[in-house]
Amino acid sequence: MSFIETRGNDGVNPKEVEFSYAILNPIASFGGLYIPKELPQLGEDFIKNHIDKNYKELAYDILTAFKIDIDDEDLNNALNLYDAFDDKNNPAPVVKIKDDLFVNEQYHGPTRAFKDMALQPFGSVLSSIAKKRGEKYLILAATSGDTGPAALNTFKNKEGIQVACLYPNGGTSDVQRLQMVTEDGKNLKVLGINGTFDDAQNALKQLLASDTFKATLAQKGVKLSAANSVNFGRIIFQIVYHFWSYLELIRQGEIKNGEKIYLIVPSGNFGNALGGYYAKKMGLPIEKILISSNENNILTSWINDGDYNLNDKKLVLTSSPAMDILKSSNIERIMYDMFGSDRTKELMADLNDKNEFHLTADETAQLQEEFSATSSDDTYGKKTIKTYLEDGYLMDPHTATCIKAYENLKEKDLKAVLYSTAEWTKFSPTVLNALNEDKVKYHDKEALEKICSNFNEKVPSQIDELFDAEIIHNTIIDIEQLENEIVDFI
Ligand SMILES: *Cc1c(COP(=O)(O)O)cnc(C)c1O
Repeated sequence: MSFIETRGNDGVNPKEVEFSYAILNPIASFGGLYIPKELPQLGEDFIKNHIDKNYKELAYDILTAFKIDIDDEDLNNALNLYDAFDDKNNPAPVVKIKDDLFVNEQYHGPTRAFKDMALQPFGSVLSSIAKKRGEKYLILAATSGDTGPAALNTFKNKEGIQVACLYPNGGTSDVQRLQMVTEDGKNLKVLGINGTFDDAQNALKQLLASDTFKATLAQKGVKLSAANSVNFGRIIFQIVYHFWSYLELIRQGEIKNGEKIYLIVPSGNFGNALGGYYAKKMGLPIEKILISSNENNILTSWINDGDYNLNDKKLVLTSSPAMDILKSSNIERIMYDMFGSDRTKELMADLNDKNEFHLTADETAQLQEEFSATSSDDTYGKKTIKTYLEDGYLMDPHTATCIKAYENLKEKDLKAVLYSTAEWTKFSPTVLNALNEDKVKYHDKEALEKICSNFNEKVPSQIDELFDAEIIHNTIIDIEQLENEIVDFI
């Protein structure tokens, strides 16, 4: 199947590309992104035929329905990485927490956040292509805290791949930072930058689009790619678990095939929600996708008012840092799908030039057919964490934002699956503040121990080991130094 470009073609790039090309060169004409030319249709029969299939079999069938140019062996090797999750047969368990509310727990992989769901297999696929072609790639990753650890983990010591990972210094939790700075591998470079996640992501996009930077790399025989969800190679794996949620509800006797459900997604770069949107278009019976944000609620304005205006927003640091994003990359893919490439190019140019764009009333209505959105603040999040633990379910601050969407946006009497994107262990000081109703500044280690002893929880070894691990990376730089640092590393 071929892939095309969200902002149309510039006459230089190929007009249509294969999957491997799109994931090796994720930035398309005019700074756009790659999207599949058409989506495979996997409706009721497909669902019926997959009720007894395990996660890997489901993933294999969905990926091959896209007719991607990846060998079976490489694809299977990639999917085998789900074997290292807590339960290899069920890497993304769906748990009932009350009446009509279910949680898809996406954090059972090696770095305890949902980024593993896609980055584990994606890393494997990308390195197998690089190896086959005898090419060397530099993978750039900008992270607000979860992509970085997941990318470093999947690419560590992979032949032909080097990774430069940028994180906002002070913008991540201790655990997230330790996951990055203690990750050992000759091919890894971890850089803290003085700035926010948006600064890091902008710098990354500029480097990806920079001809001089690419030329410098080319002299060294290195090509450039990205591990952020601008890369369709991540999105394709994120379609799978939405199908899995649906199949699990059927298996648990909660719904019948064909019955509609809600998805509730805590959103930042909108990759997770986009996966749900594609799943719906491919035939999964989804009533609507409910989007939750934290105080950085630009997605709420976009969906509720059609306004995407960075001029009147300032990024605030919240207790759900993975959602502290104002420039959300994947909304571009949604707008392409709804409004076409000419209009998308125009809207993205407005965003670039004026820092804002505005949808028409009709366009906004179209968006609202598929999505509803709301936002909540840290006070709400902490209250929610406490209330739900009293009923026996411990959730992290990102997951907690979804409860607001569940309470306020769900209109019909249908089941809802909420996506839990991180394990509480990655954000334990916030969780302990919530449970103790205090504002003490706990260290992660202290908070983990207190939660375990007072609330009878357990910390997985992947997190526990971090505190004794050696710090390997300790570079903090200004954005201006970035290009030089990376060139030195190569
Ligand atoms: C990345 C992340 C999100 C946001 O996901 P998007 O796909 O970027 O919208 C939410 N929660 C956690 C914990 C994350 O790591």
